[in-house]
Amino acid sequence: MQTVTHIADVRARVLAWRRAGERIAFVPTMGNLHAGHISLIELARRHGGRFIASIFVNPMQFGPNEDFTHYPRTPARDAEMLAAAGCDLMFMPDVGEMYAQGATPPTRVEVPEISTMLCGAFRPGHFDGVATVVAKLFNIVQPDVAIFGEKDFQQLVVIRRMAADLCFPITIIGAPTVREPDGLAMSSRNQYLAEAERAVAPAIHAALAEAASALATGAADLAALEHAGAARLAAQGMQVDYFTVRRRLDLEPPVPADRELVVLAAARLGKARLIDNLQVDRSAT
Ligand code: AMP
Repeated sequence: MQTVTHIADVRARVLAWRRAGERIAFVPTMGNLHAGHISLIELARRHGGRFIASIFVNPMQFGPNEDFTHYPRTPARDAEMLAAAGCDLMFMPDVGEMYAQGATPPTRVEVPEISTMLCGAFRPGHFDGVATVVAKLFNIVQPDVAIFGEKDFQQLVVIRRMAADLCFPITIIGAPTVREPDGLAMSSRNQYLAEAERAVAPAIHAALAEAASALATGAADLAALEHAGAARLAAQGMQVDYFTVRRRLDLEPPVPADRELVVLAAARLGKARLIDNLQVDRSAT
């Protein structure tokens, strides 16, 4: 595996592969890799051709009081894990390389509506930061396929919308959420949990599973399900940002005809803000 830090070096590599007729799959990450990231990488490798991963903690997607400075950074271990997973190229730029004009670039990509609901309402500007950096990475890497985790479901919807609206010739693939044995979705931010908090954190998955199973078996009162889910998390000492049922396509509140739903939750527990979701197909009534 080759490691590069400059955009020009990524372009040179990609050009050589393209000239050899190879396809390129891409997985963007913020590093501190875990089994969830590795599952994306394994999915990318199934697409054949060359595989590129990026590691970049993107300042533009962090709010002023968020954890940009403290976000866990483990580049040496990440490089080992990527090499072991069969990665061809690791792109690890610094902030100056990605934002030569400063951390707030004059040009930004904004995906309206989807970016301001749910997590966007609690993290203003977050999805503009995500959409902007992913658009930049797409232009740098120019992959055929890019893989994103369903764990960050709203992010996946934002990126699908952006790629379609800006005509990126890239297939966006969602990968299933990888969980700890007790159901907690794997996340770099789980490290922020104290032992007692870690013990109650799986309640998020349990509450989502309960709501999803009620929906699958015909429950129609969404407000009641949302209220019960939020109450269950609050009873564990979590500060619930939202617990809500949406339709998968655009994350709008579902109308009765919508079958493809997703139950999403975000809650703060100690120093961590945890998000998770479960997709469910509502039964026809
Ligand atoms: P991050 O490094 O947190 O920005 O995540 C990089 C990619 O990995 C994103 O597409 C995430 O959605 C995905 N990801 C993070 N955690 C998981 C997980 N537990 N299961 C599957 N994908 C994940």
